Amino acid sequence: MFYIGRNLIVIIFALLCSGTFCSRAENTAQYSYLRNRMVKEQIEDRGIRDTAVLRVMRKVERHRFVPPGQRARAYEDGPLSIGCGQTISQPYIVAIMTEVLSLDRKKKVLEIGTGSGYQAAVLAELCDSVFSIELLDALGRRARDTLAALGYTNVQVKIGDGYQGWPEHAPFDAIIVTCSPTHVPQPLQDQLAEGGKMVIPVEEKMNQELILLTRRRGRIHRTAIEPVRFVPMLREDGKKY
Ligand code: SAH
Repeated sequence: MFYIGRNLIVIIFALLCSGTFCSRAENTAQYSYLRNRMVKEQIEDRGIRDTAVLRVMRKVERHRFVPPGQRARAYEDGPLSIGCGQTISQPYIVAIMTEVLSLDRKKKVLEIGTGSGYQAAVLAELCDSVFSIELLDALGRRARDTLAALGYTNVQVKIGDGYQGWPEHAPFDAIIVTCSPTHVPQPLQDQLAEGGKMVIPVEEKMNQELILLTRRRGRIHRTAIEPVRFVPMLREDGKKY
């Protein structure tokens, strides 16, 4: 009787474990299917050609960066809420902003607006050193934990006002701004290396435009990419820049 009982417990335990394992494996496979479809339909079919960017977008698990209640929607074609009134950008926007920066391993990148940490992870897959600044303490801390849990050791997250950049680590080969100011912050322009590129959504006359700035022989060249909608870049007192 004792042996039957013990065997029964072992069998039930094994069944429960295999059930858990199956559902985890199924989830992973489902997310991977959705991620590949996202890259094909939302990113490749819309003209993103950089193979490194496509590879990384297929690899980074976007669902790990959104709150549990939003995971099922992680691969949809739009921004998602990450709490504190902030959003993780639409996958296509992450891809195009990354592509225009022409990144490689040796580049040092600064991101303004860490948010969930997803864009920082995409950058960390492509470059050896990533610096990211988040204004809101709760988001910055959570992004730091997420990035650490996923094994990214080449991203440093600072909590503070990104308008000022990160002078201690300047100059940067690339700067990516994921919140929208009404003008290009002068400190960020000053921290851009010769030959460096900055991508930034600038709000002018109530419309936001994604702009690419390139520093060539000390001069800044400006190219408009496309209209976008980002959350505003805020000061520490909550007012808009
Ligand atoms: N890149 C993020 C999405 C960012 S949403 C991601 O991949 O998830 C924009 C973020 O910019 C928000 O988290 C917001 O809190 C932050 N932000 C707004 N003003 C800022 C400022 N002055 N400095 C740094 N971060 C700022």
